[in-house]
Amino acid sequence: MLGSIFIIIVFIGLFIWRMIMSSPDNIGKAGEKRVARKLDWLPKEYIILNDIMLPTQYGTTQIDHIVVSPYGIFVIETKNYKGWIFGHENSEEWKQSLLGKKKFWGWSSEQHKFRNPIRQNQAHTRAIKRITSEVGDFRIIPIVVFSDKADLKITTPNHIVVNWSSLRSAIKQYDTPCIPDDNIKKIINKINSANIIDEHAREAHASSIHLTQQRNQQLIANRICPQCHSTLVERDGRFGRFLGCSNYPKCKFTSPIE
Ligand SMILES: [Zn+2]
Repeated sequence: MLGSIFIIIVFIGLFIWRMIMSSPDNIGKAGEKRVARKLDWLPKEYIILNDIMLPTQYGTTQIDHIVVSPYGIFVIETKNYKGWIFGHENSEEWKQSLLGKKKFWGWSSEQHKFRNPIRQNQAHTRAIKRITSEVGDFRIIPIVVFSDKADLKITTPNHIVVNWSSLRSAIKQYDTPCIPDDNIKKIINKINSANIIDEHAREAHASSIHLTQQRNQQLIANRICPQCHSTLVERDGRFGRFLGCSNYPKCKFTSPIE
């Protein structure tokens, strides 16, 4: 009897261990799933909509999570990044910094730029505002969530940018009801009926992003800055040679040399 209980405990322990260890952390989708699981723990009055694609004036926009609740509509953008994250709420781009390879003089670092996620989420917020405007004007709260492995070195006094582990408390800090029950249903209906589920439309969205990336790669290969179309020049940096825009300091575009 005691033996079998022991075996069951070991089995459960192994299962939990496996679940923790097997969680991938570099793929965006895995991050979205992880956040979705975190959101599932919210009380029933919070309705969670995952992976919503809405039409905008310029095409479409893909939203990781929307949480509709009596306390407001939360729009959540997930970034499954690790390392140091640097950024300001008004800047165009943010930067991820990772420790790179060990060199004889120390560690090299690796930098990646990405679009300011607050701005990305503002576009999502506008799309939701437009789609739900017939029902009413509601409180929409944009939230950007980073992996717990990200060390946030950011200044965003007017926006919520948190790690996964703080997501629930970021949502729960809004505790004044402002959306009546029947409107919640209407809002969800509006979003669901605007949601583009057609595979072709979704592929078109993905390939337009892909095209932009390809075009940028092409420009960089031809030593043209994709941001301002000035010439790119090779420069010496602390971590080796890189391509920089000749229009610096006006344009701060940089790229590794392939
Ligand atoms: Zn430039």
